[in-house]
Amino acid sequence: MTPSDNPPATPAPQSDSGKVCASDLQSLLTGILRTIVRLPWLHTEAGGVFLADGERRCLNLVAHVNFAPQIQGSCSQVAYGHCLCGRVAESGQMLHVTCVDHRHDIRYPDMEDHGHYVLPVEDGEELLGVLVLYVEVGHVREQEEVDALRDFAAVMATVIRVVNARLDKQVADLVIAHSAHGVLVADRDRRILWVNRAFEKATGYRLEEVRGQTPKLLASGRHDAAFYRRMWQQIRETGQWQGEIWNRRKNGEIYPEWLNIIALRNGQGEVERYAGMFIDLTEIRRAEAHIHRLAYFDQLTGLPNRTRFVEKLAEMLADVKDAGQCLAVLVLDLDHFHPVNEALGREAGDALLREAGRRLDSVANGALVARVEPDQFLVALPERAGDEAALLCQVRQQAERILAAFESGFELSGQALNLGMTAGLACSQPDDTPDRLLTRAGRALREAKQTAKGSLRIFDTELARQAEYERHIVLHIEQAVPRNELFLRFQPQVDQGGRIVGAETLVRWSCPDLGIIPPDVFIQHAEESGAIVAIGRWVFEQAVRHFEQWRRHGLVGHDDFVLAINLSPAQLVGDGIAERFRTWCERYAVPCSVIELEVTESAMVHGRDGQMQKQLVDLASCGFRLAIDDFGTGHSSLSRLHALPIDSFKLDRSFVQDIETGGRPLAIVKSLIAMAHELGHAVIAEGIENDRQLAILRNLGCEYYQGYWFSPPLDEAAFTAYLREHPPT
Ligand code: C2E
Ligand code: MG
Ligand code: MG
Repeated sequence: MTPSDNPPATPAPQSDSGKVCASDLQSLLTGILRTIVRLPWLHTEAGGVFLADGERRCLNLVAHVNFAPQIQGSCSQVAYGHCLCGRVAESGQMLHVTCVDHRHDIRYPDMEDHGHYVLPVEDGEELLGVLVLYVEVGHVREQEEVDALRDFAAVMATVIRVVNARLDKQVADLVIAHSAHGVLVADRDRRILWVNRAFEKATGYRLEEVRGQTPKLLASGRHDAAFYRRMWQQIRETGQWQGEIWNRRKNGEIYPEWLNIIALRNGQGEVERYAGMFIDLTEIRRAEAHIHRLAYFDQLTGLPNRTRFVEKLAEMLADVKDAGQCLAVLVLDLDHFHPVNEALGREAGDALLREAGRRLDSVANGALVARVEPDQFLVALPERAGDEAALLCQVRQQAERILAAFESGFELSGQALNLGMTAGLACSQPDDTPDRLLTRAGRALREAKQTAKGSLRIFDTELARQAEYERHIVLHIEQAVPRNELFLRFQPQVDQGGRIVGAETLVRWSCPDLGIIPPDVFIQHAEESGAIVAIGRWVFEQAVRHFEQWRRHGLVGHDDFVLAINLSPAQLVGDGIAERFRTWCERYAVPCSVIELEVTESAMVHGRDGQMQKQLVDLASCGFRLAIDDFGTGHSSLSRLHALPIDSFKLDRSFVQDIETGGRPLAIVKSLIAMAHELGHAVIAEGIENDRQLAILRNLGCEYYQGYWFSPPLDEAAFTAYLREHPPT
């Protein structure tokens, strides 16, 4: 496939001299047929040539002389094995027939009897076509005739082969000229003979400018002489070289290309031409870099993202492991980012994050920094040490310096903002994975956020113990109901006259390995794992059964005692809770109206709109009472609470705790009670531990009370005894 010395950069139209097309073949073959028909000794008047289509196993009529229109029509395509020509195509053997016999499959009206010479047209073993000639009825076969016709068939084979080859070459030239790959053809002295359009486009040189020059014209200067020596040596030895090479365009720009050089040799093994084909890698490199940026960098801050951070951290961990050392990572969380983002809008939020990223990057002193959540950053500190204690000595200061950088406020569109950072720090262990190390740093961050925003918490043995404890809870909470490890406590609730009016049901878990676990430790994990649905159902069913027993023993009546049961928002996600609870109450003939379901304020307000509200309405319409638990902690909007079917509000313990100090806590409690009353709801205060708290609440008009001052949560037997001693009236 060597393009001629001078192929045009633009492929020539087919009518140009030196070019052939399919119709040329037809006229060449027709010319030969005419010569045969004119032979005086053969007595033939008509003949045709078919081209073989080996793949489809058929013959296509390509040229003919004196064929009647009926023959042209019925013989335009003949299958191998069919009629005389098809049989010759299949057997490769010449046929001489003296009349229309049984083998002559194709017939037409008024067909006269006649004989045939049918010869294969072959190139060695390959069948190229079939030559068919009409002869008189009863024609006698002559060997000289046959030899002459074989010669004609051989000439036809040559013509077909040459035309096909030239057609193939034309196609090849076209492909090369239009190829997206740059192509260069050089003579044995490496002087450029021809280049295609893609070459011109990539290098900026026109064919006329490079013809006669050597490819040195493109050298970038980035490769030394030894590089080119090795390249040509390999071409000499193997006939080929391929690899990446930097070349220089006409405008001086250096660019990468993937180059493939082939040496074309003649029959004596001497190099006749060199062909170089290349792909300009500039765009590919650009796209790669873009994909790399997208895959590995945060678009907003330009900092690495989690994927890149984790990859780099894995490398760093492997290094420190080899050196018998450890390193530390810091997880940083921008405090109060979400409210600021909501209040100032997305653009301002983005600007803030960009500034935070910039500040962190500059203070981190070359450490690997990444943004992994909207307001969360990671830093892999460069310090190394032989053990954790030594490392902490080095990195604690560095971490505190990073936090201190966020103490000075941000300025956004002329507005000053104070946003601190809270951080968790963890040191690596010998066989750490990035995931494990980051989980520990994240755990330390969570702890820091819960205890003191703006602080640094190091993952230490205390946190490790806690994490292990929680891991155990997560692993075993699902089994708590089936293994019957839960039990209930009941805490009395009283009115202003000190009479018992109800009780709150509080669940406990007796874990075989960890002992008694309070609900505020395991409920959150049960909610995350989904186990809360089974737990909530168990608590409800047990509570109703207990109520039924107290009533059977005459300890409570139908309308003087309300049993409160806590409900997790996760229980309100699915459908049908109202129906299930109502059916259970019916089974024990307990009216729904003596059960009060406590839902936390934040769950009510932030729960998925629609779905949860619908479940609450369904529960209320069955007759269940609804209370808002932990009232005052959820920042509820009055309008939303007003729309819900609520019966009472439970004032959160944290407010009661501080109420005696007066000031702000007292003012908050006052307005919360006023607000509840405004909405027409009763208020129950929880967590009352002394009579001073009680007196203040009573003065403020709070109707009901719950707390250690009256009674701690009691087990079933103790609570039954309590009811006996303090019967509801
Ligand atoms: P909560 O519903 O606000 O329950 C009141 C918590 O305050 C109970 O803690 C109770 O023992 C405690 N408490 C009562 N009086 C006093 C007091 O005078 N001083 C102090 N310091 N604490 C007092 P507990 O039993 O540990 O429950 C904690 C939380 O766990 C509950 O808070 C509730 O949100 C959740 N919980 C408890 N049982 C269940 C349950 O069956 N299902 C669901 N979903 N959550 C439950
Ligand atoms: Mg409660
Ligand atoms: Mg509460």
